[in-house]
Amino acid sequence: MQGCAFIADKWRPAADGRTIDMICPSDGAVIGAIARCEAMEVDAAVAAARAACGGAWARTPAADRGRILAKIGMAILDHAEALTTLEAADTGKPLKQARNDVLACARYFEFYGGCADKLHGETLPFLNGYQVLVLREPRGVTGHIIPWNYPLQMFGRTIGGSLAAGNATVIKPAEDACLSVLLMAEIAAECGLPAGALNVVPGLGEEAGAALAGHGGIDYLSFTGSSAVGTLVQRAAAEHHTPCALELGGKSPQIIFADADLETVLPVVANAIVQNAGQTCSAGSRALIHRDIYDEVMARLAERISALRVGSHAMDLDCGPVINRQQMQRVEGFMARAAESQIRVAAQGNIDKAAPETGFYVKPTLYEAVPPAHELAQEEVFGPVLAALAFKDEAEAVAIGNGVAYGLVAGVWTENGGRQMRMAKALRVGQVFVNGYGAGGGVELPFGGVKRSGHGREKGFEGLREFTVSKTVVINHG
Ligand code: NAD
Repeated sequence: MQGCAFIADKWRPAADGRTIDMICPSDGAVIGAIARCEAMEVDAAVAAARAACGGAWARTPAADRGRILAKIGMAILDHAEALTTLEAADTGKPLKQARNDVLACARYFEFYGGCADKLHGETLPFLNGYQVLVLREPRGVTGHIIPWNYPLQMFGRTIGGSLAAGNATVIKPAEDACLSVLLMAEIAAECGLPAGALNVVPGLGEEAGAALAGHGGIDYLSFTGSSAVGTLVQRAAAEHHTPCALELGGKSPQIIFADADLETVLPVVANAIVQNAGQTCSAGSRALIHRDIYDEVMARLAERISALRVGSHAMDLDCGPVINRQQMQRVEGFMARAAESQIRVAAQGNIDKAAPETGFYVKPTLYEAVPPAHELAQEEVFGPVLAALAFKDEAEAVAIGNGVAYGLVAGVWTENGGRQMRMAKALRVGQVFVNGYGAGGGVELPFGGVKRSGHGREKGFEGLREFTVSKTVVINHG
């Protein structure tokens, strides 16, 4: 399965046998190889998916589609240990985080399996003598391009939703972490998913990814990744007028008012930046703190950040490595420029002595009084770096909260009910958590961004509808 693409239920190497080494971020060791697919394999995968759209998968009744997805959900739990180990080694995330990702992936298949036979159209009132039906149909062949930070979760949410709606899928996982997705293809086939309903074409973004994004045989494209690549993908999709959803980056604020219950707030705020070493689209990377409690919150947050321990995935500490050397250097670049701007470090966690020297480790870092216009308060660092800013009132919290190019998620911490609602309405984001922070939210919750965080929704029933298209049938029955 390694070194191969999965097309029409068969494992096959890339045409010229080219592969890409998979590197474990914890120690830089090579732990496998994936196929380096290009346009030729993408063409074959799209053709296999197209055949499934007119074949066994298209003839599978909705309830049976649901059963197959539910079976995949159960099988994920049966393979939980193997998937956890693979996901942790591939991404570097601590085992306990990888374990949660496996459960979330299973839950997506369980949820979407249950939805498959509950998707339905409508009838509309119209002129006398007419009957209008609005059918809700699958889009056909859906393409999926996903990032490396949560391979299993991304697979579950985008493939689970699309298959439940009756589409046939082609997925291009990320070149930096992809092994669990290959295992998922095997598991799905064992659960009875017909040939061609799921095809996996691993490879580089600029090769396999670009070939899929610009493919004329794709009826809908779901892209999750950086805002910069999202622009390229949308442009490529526009060539064929392929509709697409873009799930992009974020710079999500955690807004802490003076009446917040700090015992609840502080562990959540610390976790929301350290989870997955800060490489989460919805990482709470800005702490906006009311000036009356700023000193107290900073002191207590600094204590927590200083106590954090970083190590390999197998050491299973608070934080793992970042994905690769380039990402480590990128995060270090932000830190170096923050130092040049004389932005003060309020606290840093520790890299455990037992962490391999060849791994890509970054100390979780809390920055104090970051000016709102500084890149640390504006750009997605994608590392365990938290920027703290003070605000004086609701209006300023909203202005700073919305004062970035992104709009993905926000956390609001206050006991005041009116303020909870005012803030939730005023923040320009796709999800708001009040007195909690879901770091991406649950399987059931529609998720997606506004502004540079993208458009379209995944997760929940709303995400499922995006994988369908309506058709209006007008019958003149006299
Ligand atoms: P990335 O944009 O570099 O890569 C994402 C995917 O796109 C990969 O599979 C990559 O191979 C592919 N790709 C790269 N160049 C391409 C091209 N020219 N054409 C087509 N495909 C191409 O992102 P990344 O570094 O893998 O992931 C991190 C980013 O993903 C962050 O910005 C993060 O916020 C975002 N993200 C968003 C969500 C969300 O739901 N909003 C979830 C997870 C991650």
